[in-house]
Amino acid sequence: MAVADRLPGGWPDEQELGRLAYSSPDPLMMLDEHGVILAVNPAWSDVLGWEADDLLDRRFFDFIHTEDLQHTTDRWKDVVAGDPVVDERNRWVTATDQWRWLSWSWKRNAETGHVFSAGRDVTSHMDLYLRVTEDRQLLASAETLAQVGAWEWTSQPDILSMSEHMRALLDIDDNAPITSDRAMQLIHLDDRERILGLLTTSIERGEKVDTEFRIAGTGGGNRVLVMHAEPIRDEQGMVHLHGAVQDVTEQRRLATLKDAFLAAVSHELRTPLTVIKGVADTLVRLHVKDEQQRSRLQGALVRNVDRLEHLMADLLDFGTLRRGDMQLRTGTCDLAALVHQLVAVSPIAERAIIDGPTSLPVDVDRVIVERIVLNLLDNAAKYAPTGPVEVSYGRRGEMLRLSVADAGPGVTAAEAARIFEPFYRVADDRPQPGMGIGLALVGEFARAHDGRAWVEPHEPGAEFIVEIRAAPLDQSD
Ligand code: ADP
Repeated sequence: MAVADRLPGGWPDEQELGRLAYSSPDPLMMLDEHGVILAVNPAWSDVLGWEADDLLDRRFFDFIHTEDLQHTTDRWKDVVAGDPVVDERNRWVTATDQWRWLSWSWKRNAETGHVFSAGRDVTSHMDLYLRVTEDRQLLASAETLAQVGAWEWTSQPDILSMSEHMRALLDIDDNAPITSDRAMQLIHLDDRERILGLLTTSIERGEKVDTEFRIAGTGGGNRVLVMHAEPIRDEQGMVHLHGAVQDVTEQRRLATLKDAFLAAVSHELRTPLTVIKGVADTLVRLHVKDEQQRSRLQGALVRNVDRLEHLMADLLDFGTLRRGDMQLRTGTCDLAALVHQLVAVSPIAERAIIDGPTSLPVDVDRVIVERIVLNLLDNAAKYAPTGPVEVSYGRRGEMLRLSVADAGPGVTAAEAARIFEPFYRVADDRPQPGMGIGLALVGEFARAHDGRAWVEPHEPGAEFIVEIRAAPLDQSD
C-alpha cells in the first residue's frame, strides 16, 4: 500500500481499516440512533457467545441488566445528542444466560447519525472492584463499630493516608493532602513533641509504638486517642509508618467516673460506720449513765444507721435500674400526706415551706416517689445548709409535678446537663460527701413513671423538678 493511500496519522485506507476493526478482539458494533444494532464484529461470539444473527436488528437495550438500564439510557441520550461517551459500564446477558460487565465507548457520526460503539470485557476488573468496595464498606463499618481508624505515612512524598473513620475521628472533612506537619497540628500542643519523638525513634530503631495522645474535640474538651504505630521498610528501603488509632475518650471518662464512684462509695459507707462503731463502743464500754448523753449517742446511732440504709437503698436501686429490672408497684397514695411526712423527718424540716393541696390521692409506686423526694430533700440539706427550702407538689393533667427549690450554690447550665448522669459530681471544692448517683436515680425513677427530672435556676440556688405520669384519682378512692 502506498503511503499516499493512508489516512492522516498513518492509518490504513478504509477497506483495511474495516478489516482491522472486524478482526478486533473487543466487541464492536454500529447502531442507529434508536439503539438498533446495524453491524457487529465476530468478537461478540468470543466474549458473549452471541452470533451476528442473534444481534442484528435488535435494540441493544434488550441485552442489558435491568439494574443498569436507567444509567445506560441516560448516557445513550448524551451520545445521540452528540456528546461522546466513554467507559459506560453495564452488564450484558450472554448466550448461556450469564452476565458479563462491558465498558463502552460511544461516538455518533454526525453525517450518518450512526453510533460507533466499542466495548471491552471488564468482568474481572468489576468483580475485583466490587469485592474491594464491599471489603472497604465492611472495613469502614468494622472501624466505626470498633471506633478504630487506620493510617499510613510515607516520607516521600510526605503524605499521611487515612481510612474514612480515621478522618472522622480527626474531624478532617477536606481533601487537601495531610502532611506530617498538618497531622501534628491536630495533636494537643502538650502531647505534640512527645509523639513526634516517639515516632522518630520508632522509624530510626524499627520499633513499634503504643501510646496515647489528646486532640481537641469539636464540642470543646479534649478527646483521648490510643495509637499503635509500626514502621515497615519497602523494597526500595524506604521506611513507612502504619498504624491504628482508637478513640477511648468515653472509656477513659467512665473509668475515671467509676474510680471516683468507688472511692466515694467507700468513703460514704465508712463515715457512718465509723460513727456507729465509735458510739456503740462508747455505749458498751463506758456504760454511759447520764440520760441526756445516752439519748444523744442513741440519736447519733439511729441517724447514722438511717444514713447507711439510705446509701444501701441507693446502691441497690442503682443496680436494679442498671439491669433494667425495675418493676413499678403502683397503688393509691396521698402525695400531700407523703410529702408532709418526709419533710417533717428531714434535716430541712425547720426551714421548709410546703406548697400544695391538702390532699392529693394518686396512683403511683409509693416507695419510688418516697425515694425521689428523699433524694431531693437530702441534696437540699447537703448543698444548701441555710435558707428556705420550698417544696411544692401538684397535678398538671396526667402529670404530677414535684419540686424542691433551695438557696444553695445553684447549678451552672453546663452542670445542669450532666448532674443527672450516674457518678457525675460537680468538680469543684464543695466539701459535701456523695456517690453521684442520687440524681441519676431520681431521673431513672421519673422515667420509670413515664416522666422526667431536670433542674432550673432559682435565685438564689436551684430548683429540682420531677414530673411523673399518674392517672387522677377521685378523693373518694
Ligand atoms: P451526690 O450528691 O452524691 O454527689 P447527686 O447525684 O445527688 O450525687 O448529685 C450530683 C451532683 O449534683 C452533686 O455532686 C452536686 O454537685 C450537684 N447537686 C445536687 N443537688 C444540688 C443542689 N441542691 N444544689 C447544688 N448542686 C446540687
